[in-house]
Formats: sequence, structure tokens, C-alpha cells
Amino acid sequence: MKKIKVASIWCESCSGCHMSILDMDERLVELINKGLELNATPITDLKVPDDDTDIGIIEGAVATDHHEEEVKMMREKCKFIVAIGDCAVFGGIVTMRNYVPLNELLKRGYIETESTVDGKIPTSPELGKHLPKVKAVNEVIKVDYYIPGCPPSADAIYHVLKEILEGKTPVLTGELLKYE
Ligand code: SF4
Repeated sequence: MKKIKVASIWCESCSGCHMSILDMDERLVELINKGLELNATPITDLKVPDDDTDIGIIEGAVATDHHEEEVKMMREKCKFIVAIGDCAVFGGIVTMRNYVPLNELLKRGYIETESTVDGKIPTSPELGKHLPKVKAVNEVIKVDYYIPGCPPSADAIYHVLKEILEGKTPVLTGELLKYE
């Protein structure tokens, strides 16, 4: 049986979309039995996909230079890119920060919150640098398939992965297609 390698990452997000992947429950096992192989994902805790990965799933918006590097890496290594969830599809709730100057936002988040004592804005060079604006994934790389929703349902994710596994082009209609 031909294996279909799947990798996934999350960028600026809440990880809710990956929870929906896990919500496929036993259907995830069914897909694995049909040839789906989980490669680098937060589930396997491997960070770099194989060069011949078939499906790259991206959750979350692109908010830092690290996210930009990661989505470009996914595009290089994966045949199909699937943007999963509203944050990845059009920026979603994460783009709220585009309406506030970044320095004000960081000050509010790290120094001024009511529960913070002696707060400071992190400056470690290991941290990603915030981009001037949060972007949807397709503003950085080409995206092949979109699964909107916040989060998308396990049914929608299952449908898309199953169709790709069967060599079909997935189309979301009716209850499977939601923006929320
Ligand atoms: S789309 Fe919703 S569930 Fe998914 S990462 Fe964004 S906020 Fe979280």
C-alpha cells in the first residue's frame, strides 16, 4: 500500500485546529490503515518533515519571521498545502493585533495587565520577531486546499484527508463548509 505522508505545524494559533484533527478519533486510525502516515507533527513531536511529504497541514496565521520560515519550509517539502482553520485561511482572530501599534500591544500584554508584577517585554534573540502585520498563510506561500472554521470540524478535516488519500480533489459543501 502506498503511504501518504502528512506533516503539520501550527503558527500563531491556539492549537484548537489540531484538537479537531485529534477529534477524528477512530477515523484517524482508519486513515492510517488506508495509508496515511503521520510524519512531522505536534502529535509526533518531530519538527522537520521529510522532503517527499505529500500533505502539509498549516494551522494558524503568520505573525513572526519564524512562522514565515516554517511555512516556506512546508511549501518546499510538501506536495499539497492545506490551510486549516480561520487563522490560517484568512488570518482570523489573530489579525486583531493589526489594528494596534505593536509596541502598545506588547506593553499591554507583558507589563500592564492587572495580574503582572515587574513585567518586561521578552527580548531573547531566540524568539521570532513580530512581523509588522499578521498574515494569512496564502499571503506567504501558495495554498492548495482550505478548511475554514474556528476550529473546522473533525468531519471536514476527515473528508479532505480521505479525498486526497483516494486521489480525489476535496470539495467542502453544506455542513462541512463553515466560517465561524
Ligand atoms: S482557527 Fe480558531 S481554533 Fe484554529 S487556531 Fe485559530 S482560533 Fe484556534
